[in-house]
Amino acid sequence: MKMMADIGLEIHVQLATRSKMFCSCGTDFNAPPNTLVCASCLGYPGTLPVINSEAVKLTVLAGMMLNCEINLSSKFDRKNYFYPDASKNYQLSQHDEPLCLGGSVDFAYGKDSGVALPGSVTSSAFTEKTVRLHHIHLEEDVAKSMHYRELSRIDFNRCGLALMEIVTEPDLHTAEETFAFLLTLKQILTYGGISNCNLEEGNLRCDVNCSVRPIGRQKLGVKTEIKNMNTFKGIFQALQHEIQRQKEVVCAGGLIRQETRRWVVEQGITEPMRLKEDAEDYRYFPDSDLPRLTLSDTQIKEWAKALPELPRQRCERLAREYNVPEYDARVLAADKHVADYFEEAVKLAQAAQPPAAPKAISNWMMTEMLRYLAEREIEMTEVAITPAALAELAVLTENQVINMTTAKSVFNEICENGGMPKKIVETKGLAQVSDTNALLPLVEEALNENQKSVEAYLAGKSAALQFLIGQVMRRCKGKANPRIVRDLLERILSEKGR
Ligand code: ZN
Ligand code: MN
Repeated sequence: MKMMADIGLEIHVQLATRSKMFCSCGTDFNAPPNTLVCASCLGYPGTLPVINSEAVKLTVLAGMMLNCEINLSSKFDRKNYFYPDASKNYQLSQHDEPLCLGGSVDFAYGKDSGVALPGSVTSSAFTEKTVRLHHIHLEEDVAKSMHYRELSRIDFNRCGLALMEIVTEPDLHTAEETFAFLLTLKQILTYGGISNCNLEEGNLRCDVNCSVRPIGRQKLGVKTEIKNMNTFKGIFQALQHEIQRQKEVVCAGGLIRQETRRWVVEQGITEPMRLKEDAEDYRYFPDSDLPRLTLSDTQIKEWAKALPELPRQRCERLAREYNVPEYDARVLAADKHVADYFEEAVKLAQAAQPPAAPKAISNWMMTEMLRYLAEREIEMTEVAITPAALAELAVLTENQVINMTTAKSVFNEICENGGMPKKIVETKGLAQVSDTNALLPLVEEALNENQKSVEAYLAGKSAALQFLIGQVMRRCKGKANPRIVRDLLERILSEKGR
């Protein structure tokens, strides 16, 4: 039986607000435990919540970027439960009248999409796809509990933080699609300043709903929910496992139970946690302490002015404005900080005398820079080489002042110790030797000392030329202009051949 999977996500996004959702406590992740608390977020009776307007604004902006309809009249409900990590024993959330309705996210995955899958998994063919959103609602976070062998500890700093929950339709079908979708969503939220999207600090947490059905059948299968995933790699691996597990159960004639499961990283499996509650179990009812959340069209239009350029628009603009290949533009635009850096370096390189082309900067970014970031596992904002230094380096190589080998070592040196390329080239005497008169003796020497290669070349083994070029380069410590060395060698060798 051929089976397929249907995947839907509930993504909790911590909003980049300065205070909590319903009180004025701060949001600093690094504050000592239980210092950012007050009677309201600790759930003391008699306190009243106040809606954080910054959180509303950020959610509305997110809604606009994600093609939602903004609901001008929404409300908050109590989601009742026994919460050891929220002492009111209900969570303020939005049940049936959320702030943003519908919505969609376009994304690409597969080969040449710039999405690198975790592990040694190979990607599928290039595919573009749209995932529909069901809605986005606002709610408050719960405290963080930590369990030790003999005791548990709880930190209420997180209790009451502003959370936006993005709920998708079950439009995803593979682990790869889900992974690529999440990367795109993270890009958009980062571009918009909606959230810091720091996964290590738990800014993005995902509940993954997954079911399987025979291909061709319309009705979705019974779903399981994998709770509280906080790495994209974890989600990818958990889905690979869960889809396979469900397929095996169904193919063997078994039934999937509607349940909540947990991903056990160490073992690479999901295991049951508890039977899943239905919405009725929470006894939602409208919060009696908060008024309805009403917004005006004018307010929304005012906020819309803060909307940034999105990754997709930026990608199109980079390709158009700087005439770089679409693939380059996609990779560069994927990270806002990489795109910012690129544009700054391009402006400086174009203004230089003589200038360097945007494609030269793009080549540096796509190869050396991204390799360096990946190797060091650092962000674009943390590199020592400035856009001005990269622009200068591109100008020096474009205009043959230094060759590519020298340029790469200068690049690495600046990444380590900072500095400007021109200065380094001057003080270390790295400038490329293009002067034929200076190179000729070295070429002669290389030929005299490598008679075998000369004979091999003359006998038709053209590969011997590369060896001879290397010999000349070695004699001038890598500074020769390789093109001129090649020309000289070819000229002298063809004379010898006559
Ligand atoms: Zn508080
Ligand atoms: Mn929630």
